[in-house]
Amino acid sequence: MDCIFCRIVSGEIPATIVARNEFAVAFRDLNPQAPTHVLVIPTRHFESATEVPEDERVAVLGQLLRLAVAVAEQLGVALGGYRTVINTGKQGGQTVDHLHVHLLGGRQMHWPPG
Ligand code: AMP
Repeated sequence: MDCIFCRIVSGEIPATIVARNEFAVAFRDLNPQAPTHVLVIPTRHFESATEVPEDERVAVLGQLLRLAVAVAEQLGVALGGYRTVINTGKQGGQTVDHLHVHLLGGRQMHWPPG
């Protein structure tokens, strides 16, 4: 399968990895939208949140958020606050079809998002 994020998981293409465990990998976004911008992805390929089988959602999405919170603490943005975002599908603004959580921090966030 030709998925850029699967190739980051396997180490085939480089990324600045900040944390990983058996379920998820966290690495710096190539085009950061905040001083801290990390992507947290499952080691298994799921096209999007919707594509995770219903009976696996608690585990898969839970592990992603669990690592995102740990990385926020590790990188020192937990105290000031941060944002986690999952873009899903075309109208959701998803551009890479491997489920990922954006972790953004280090600046004031605004609402509503664009
Ligand atoms: P989304 O638009 O929610 O699908 O987010 C995809 C994100 O992946 C964007 O923020 C891109 O900057 C980021 N991205 C794409 N390719 C890479 C890569 N090779 N390494 C790190 N981040 C990437």
